[in-house]
Amino acid sequence: MKMSRIIERIQAHYDTLEVPFGRIYHWHQGHVILECDCGEILTLSGTSAKTTCWRCGAAYGTLVNDIHYREEHLGDEEVHPWDYDLQSQEAQHLRDEAAYPEGSP
Ligand SMILES: [Zn+2]
Repeated sequence: MKMSRIIERIQAHYDTLEVPFGRIYHWHQGHVILECDCGEILTLSGTSAKTTCWRCGAAYGTLVNDIHYREEHLGDEEVHPWDYDLQSQEAQHLRDEAAYPEGSP
């Protein structure tokens, strides 16, 4: 029996883009690119409505469920990167205050 082959697996994540007045977070949905038994290249994401190969009818519902499950169980840092950026900014601020105590010339 031939097996379908996963070509690429992309985890759901945010891309951080540094801009002059802050940061832009761009959400990327996770997806899997795989080569079906029949040679067809399929792209499946956690929200794919179609979970079967249009050409040979092979079912990939389990894989789609798996991608979906992973997206719902991501770590906090991946889902809310700004919380972590804020914390590191606060830590930097505290270090600055320690270096330059209030009242010093
Ligand atoms: Zn197929």
